Amino acid sequence: MGVYILDDKCVGCSACLKSCPFGAIEVKDKRAGLLNNCSGCGACADSCKFGAIVVEDNRQAEIDLRQYKDVWVIAEHNEGRLRSVTLELLGEGRKLADKLHQDLCALLLGEEIGDMANELICHGAKKVYIAQEPRLAHYQTGPYTDIISNLITTYKPNIVLIGATNQGRDLASRIAARVHTGLTADCTELDINEDGLLAQTRPAFGGNIMATILCPYHRPQMATVRPKVFKPAPRDTSCVGEILPVDSCLNGKCLLCDLLEVIKEAGQGVNLEEAEIVVAGGRGLGKPENLNLIKELAEALGGAVGASRAIVDAGWAPAIHQVGQTGKTVQPKIYIACGISGAVQHLAGMQSADTIIAINKDPDAPIFKVAHYGIVGDLLEILPALTRRLKQTAV
Ligand SMILES: Cc1cc2nc3c(=O)[nH]c(=O)nc-3n(C[C@H](O)[C@H](O)[C@H](O)COP(=O)(O)OP(=O)(O)OC[C@H]3O[C@@H](n4cnc5c(N)ncnc54)[C@H](O)[C@@H]3O)c2cc1C
Repeated sequence: MGVYILDDKCVGCSACLKSCPFGAIEVKDKRAGLLNNCSGCGACADSCKFGAIVVEDNRQAEIDLRQYKDVWVIAEHNEGRLRSVTLELLGEGRKLADKLHQDLCALLLGEEIGDMANELICHGAKKVYIAQEPRLAHYQTGPYTDIISNLITTYKPNIVLIGATNQGRDLASRIAARVHTGLTADCTELDINEDGLLAQTRPAFGGNIMATILCPYHRPQMATVRPKVFKPAPRDTSCVGEILPVDSCLNGKCLLCDLLEVIKEAGQGVNLEEAEIVVAGGRGLGKPENLNLIKELAEALGGAVGASRAIVDAGWAPAIHQVGQTGKTVQPKIYIACGISGAVQHLAGMQSADTIIAINKDPDAPIFKVAHYGIVGDLLEILPALTRRLKQTAV
């Protein structure tokens, strides 16, 4: 994109300054001028009443976009089981593929993965490309990037969806760079727009706006999506599909390291992302020791402990408990927010919970706008009382 300011039309009114999200316009001597940090986004175009800003879209695709079809989901698995995010991507991928009248396909790499390939078909994949060999038993960046990039170049998928997990984040960016396309990370919504392009929506500018990003000139259109953002595809054993073994063609160069041993991290209570009940604490706890009130209630309910970023940053809770835009996304049946104000960045990680219960002493706290049930009061009194009551009921 090219942005130009026409000197003969500009009156130096400064109306365009506010429209630039990058602060890349200055007005000097009654003339607007673009600074070096102009990204050419064109957001300023409509702000000028005098027609002095011209935005020219002179970009075009260097490849034949019509060759690219089908929606691919890169399957992720652990200890012989598909991760839930894979099933969630299949659920969303199905909708996209149907809108485009294209096939939903999955790509599965590993060792002895036949059963999982069948599972992918039961969850809606029409074709499952599999690369099987012992060196793929555990995820490694080099070989996975090589194989998937080669398959993309060969089969030319239109859309590639990857889970925004530790593995997916590592892999997606490498593949996008290798096949020379864009990548939208951490999408919260996907759709097909009127031009048949993947509309990839994600929070931007610190979560204050939702931006919809298109990838019009490169293929595939690649997006990562966090676990628990979408509903999983239903399992249907009557589904039919093809399993297509592909050559893994591993060469020594991509094996960047030797994997000697896989050590499992000891679990800390219930897994936050999989939990049906989450009890989360925020700065309203007042001091780090009061996190125990959250832990005790979570334990009494058989749930997991969540935390706002405020208390993670303060060192009251480990980062693995953080819920929100820069933490984990959870979708439990019950989310109990205790002493959490309800900032947009926190809501981004929990507002799709089935039932939200908020405990806050401020009746105007924004968390009450998303809560299904609210308790206005001091958590230091309410939490011990709730835990006590639950323990009594359990006896
Ligand atoms: C780029 C970016 C990313 C971010 N990512 C995240 C993220 O992933 N997750 C996240 O959580 N935040 C995130 N934040 C921070 C977010 O904006 C808020 O600052 C944060 O969520 C506030 O945490 P809090 O609700 O615990 O604290 P506060 O906003 O300070 O709220 C404390 C609440 O406790 C209540 N309270 C106080 N005492 C009591 C009591 N005794 N009993 C009951 N209620 C009480 C108060 O009324 C208040 O509502 C991010 C911010 C930015 C800029």
